[in-house]
Amino acid sequence: MIIKARKESESLKILRSLNYRMELTATQQKYYFNLEKGYEGEVQFDRSTEKIQTECLILNDLLLEVNNTKFQIDSLIIFKDTVYHFEVKNYEGDYYYEADNLLTISKKEIKNPFDQLKRGQSLLRQLFQQNSITFPIDSLVIFINPEFSLYQAPLNMPFIFQSQLTRFLKKLNNKPSVVNDRHKKLAEKLVSLHQPESLFPNIPAYNFGQLKKGNLCAGCGSFSMIVRGKKLYCSNCGFGESTDFAVMRTIDEYKILFPQRTITTNDIYEWCGEIVPKRVISRILGKNFEKSGVHQWSIYKYTSKKEN
Ligand SMILES: [Zn+2]
Repeated sequence: MIIKARKESESLKILRSLNYRMELTATQQKYYFNLEKGYEGEVQFDRSTEKIQTECLILNDLLLEVNNTKFQIDSLIIFKDTVYHFEVKNYEGDYYYEADNLLTISKKEIKNPFDQLKRGQSLLRQLFQQNSITFPIDSLVIFINPEFSLYQAPLNMPFIFQSQLTRFLKKLNNKPSVVNDRHKKLAEKLVSLHQPESLFPNIPAYNFGQLKKGNLCAGCGSFSMIVRGKKLYCSNCGFGESTDFAVMRTIDEYKILFPQRTITTNDIYEWCGEIVPKRVISRILGKNFEKSGVHQWSIYKYTSKKEN
């Protein structure tokens, strides 16, 4: 049973949008691609674990803190007598293991996920102790990408490769497991200790004026949407969607990028690339947001009507 589902982080959403709307430096772009890839790998692992039939409690993506140290847990699964802690890596290509280091074939050293795993396990254990939780923790690194190879990996490393994942999940599935109140309390405790996300420091500075305006095509990611009747069509890939939906999607991006900024008809008109008429923008805002103020171009509150 999934107790806590994974969500895209705000940082990832911001970077994804910025990647389309401004020129990122090569370093910023690499950082963004790595985030995107890491998230993709985690989601793929979630799809495997949600198929587990035996009784267990799944908590994805926890940000915890113990002794003023924050740490991230990619995935945690509570079984009857063990808590499994997973670090998911979406590395791709050929790597080798040498003297406790992980290296690319061109001899570039990368962070050894085993160190990250050990750190996570140690902090998790401290957190358990502080909260009088007594469960054994089994920590494993999942290399989720089928295109990943690790030469000279020692046999005793807690690594699960993609080719072993099905067998490993089968093993978990065959575990006789019953979860009771003790397990549920542990899951609830961990969810209550989950910290709100703080934005990554590597996000570049940006402002409204500098960003490229327009509705991003959900099909191909280009800014080639044109209005035809009540729909927007992409002149690049042919993707089409209702104007309301496309505008709301573009407003979602605006809200994530500029959480402090008010929503006005004029700004959204500009943000959507000035192709959807102002009266249509105004109607969409009126339908989905609460109006505040009686100015010529009304200001809308962020609270969506549907959420109330
Ligand atoms: Zn398109």
